[in-house]
Amino acid sequence: MRPALLDPLFSPLTALPGVGPKVGALYAKLLGQETIEDCRVVDLVFHVPRSIIDRRRQPAIMDAPEGEISTITARVDRHQPGGSASQPYRVYLVDDSGELALTFFRVKGNWLEKALPVDEMVTVSGKVDWFAGRPSMVHPDHMVKAGDGEAMPPVEPVYEMTAGLSAKVLRRSIEAALVRVPEFPEWIDPGVMQRHGFSSVRDSLLALHDPRDALDLDPRAPARSRMAYDEFLAGQVSLALVRQRLRRMPGVPVRATGALSGPVRAALPFTLTGSQQAAVADILVDMAGTERMLRLLQGDVGSGKTAVALMAMLAAVEAGGQAVLMAPTEILARQHFATLSTMAAPAGIAIDVLTGRTKGREREAILERIASGETQVVIGTHALFQDAVAYRSLMLAVVDEQHRFGVHQRLRLTAKGISPHMLVMTATPIPRTLVLAAFGDMDVSRLTEKPAGRKPIQTVTIQNDRVDEIVDRLAAALAKGKKAYWICPLVEESEETDLTSAEERFATLASVFGDRVGLVHGRMNGPEKDAVMAAFKAGDMRLLVATTVVEVGVDVPDATIMVIEHAERFGLAQLHQLRGRVGRGDEASTCMLIYKPPLSENGRARLSILRETEDGFLIAEEDLRLRGEGELLGTRQSGLPGFRFASLEHHADLLETARKDAAYLIERDPDLTSERGAAIRVLLYLHRRDEAIRFLRAG
Ligand code: ADP
Ligand code: MG
Repeated sequence: MRPALLDPLFSPLTALPGVGPKVGALYAKLLGQETIEDCRVVDLVFHVPRSIIDRRRQPAIMDAPEGEISTITARVDRHQPGGSASQPYRVYLVDDSGELALTFFRVKGNWLEKALPVDEMVTVSGKVDWFAGRPSMVHPDHMVKAGDGEAMPPVEPVYEMTAGLSAKVLRRSIEAALVRVPEFPEWIDPGVMQRHGFSSVRDSLLALHDPRDALDLDPRAPARSRMAYDEFLAGQVSLALVRQRLRRMPGVPVRATGALSGPVRAALPFTLTGSQQAAVADILVDMAGTERMLRLLQGDVGSGKTAVALMAMLAAVEAGGQAVLMAPTEILARQHFATLSTMAAPAGIAIDVLTGRTKGREREAILERIASGETQVVIGTHALFQDAVAYRSLMLAVVDEQHRFGVHQRLRLTAKGISPHMLVMTATPIPRTLVLAAFGDMDVSRLTEKPAGRKPIQTVTIQNDRVDEIVDRLAAALAKGKKAYWICPLVEESEETDLTSAEERFATLASVFGDRVGLVHGRMNGPEKDAVMAAFKAGDMRLLVATTVVEVGVDVPDATIMVIEHAERFGLAQLHQLRGRVGRGDEASTCMLIYKPPLSENGRARLSILRETEDGFLIAEEDLRLRGEGELLGTRQSGLPGFRFASLEHHADLLETARKDAAYLIERDPDLTSERGAAIRVLLYLHRRDEAIRFLRAG
């Protein structure tokens, strides 16, 4: 149960005065929610300003700097109404230094005469522009009687906005929201509070919304750091609770016999690399213990994580249990099912696939087989963790490409009372600090070797006016029996951008290559996608135009050419992932990055890193440096519960402190029953990490 203290913050946003359906829709958009019903007051409280407008500069008219905000006090000299619609209305102010023209367009009525009476001293504030030696201010932001300073804030916060929402309306709602912020019991350790100069949550939030100075919004400013620390602490405590819960569950040691994995391993068309073998060994040791395994398997694209997962799953089956593998997309789930069924054939085990698309009788039959234990391995999407799915004896859950998932799935499983060993696989070689922030303390295995026989991928960058040449090269390559991907960033041409859409590109390429070209994108339904992928895999189709749906994991080993259009729009990690779709077989591969000039400095850096290296760990570190951690974790794209205030770039030290503090706290007060424990519960609810509270014995 959420503490009543939080009720005012968790009431719907529509509880605020003036937030009806119309403004509501804008707020939903602003706060990244589907509808206004999904928005709570707290979301607005957490919507803190990005920057400030500083109106403290008060120059004489002729000293007002070009293009900057100035606040000017002067006498109204005369009005010069516009006459026609295209001619602006001008009001001239004078001081000892000279004359300032206030310019207004589309003036109706006589409100300007009232607001700026001739001969009156007024204070105006806004951006000053100079034309031919004369200063002017177009539509001042503020106009008040001189001396009426109250009416004009010297420093104004600037919020991220959405089209159609006025700053005034937002400001009013935020003020109404801030009134609802209570005094909270303090959950931060007093020593930490003091060391960092933190003040209370309420004061910190009020300070963030009322910056006096640009410095107040600095990520390292105390108010901001305090909120960042809270986020880290909430995250670390909830992860610690999950881990504690896992430890409390009686462990079922998984004893691998090798009866199934032996024959499978022998039948593989390759031998496992040294790091694959080491990872399998780590996993078997973990699973044989009485504590639940929680292990991250990091390995670059194409490093062979699937084979490792298979060995782990076979171990679970050998011990009489079931194993699941969860993939982030339908395509991947089906593909894993196909590959694993083939690879595991010598073991003669029962494998099923379960996704959102599995419907009706088929679904029922599969659910029954899972419940009876007949199915030993299930591959699927998050549908695997829905309530209707009851496992007979789930011993291992493998989660592929975890950066697309929240911790949610893990929590959901645990909440169902099943706590299998967990193996989380990710192709993004996440730096350690990020692992800690996203997953908490986890054991890590890394696949550092590429499978033997891989040829390096040659990467080139090409300006977009040379697309015709690329098409010629493709024609030659396809004639030699090669296969290629052509990636486009968006499905439809949108008005704001000039991105070439996949559909359009498909049409142009189809006019050259006919039915050897296929198209796959995110808006197609499952069977449609499958059909295209299958045709590409089989080779009936030799050129696959795709949006980023092929990004993760798709395995067509004989595809050797990757063309990425608008490469400058993609992140480094994403480009690396995409490039990893080729270079999987034993033939040399090429990656062509088409970009549209001019490149930003950052864009240039990204493309040149890709040209220079294929080392995923190095690329990840560079990506972190160039872009910040949010995108690296994929949080922005997928809505993984991320951090609003905290950034590892600025608060990495706080994360470490929060981790220690959380561990200390959970050790002393595992059920959060102390006074501080009760405060921590409030913290977890405030930052929506409360799912973990369900694991507490005392409720
Ligand atoms: P990822 O780590 O990206 O998931 P996959 O598991 O899809 O990589 O493996 C990529 C390809 O490499 C697959 O075709 C797989 O069969 C092959 N592979 C895996 N391990 C080895 C190995 N030790 N030697 C040669 N090929 C391998
Ligand atoms: Mg994979």
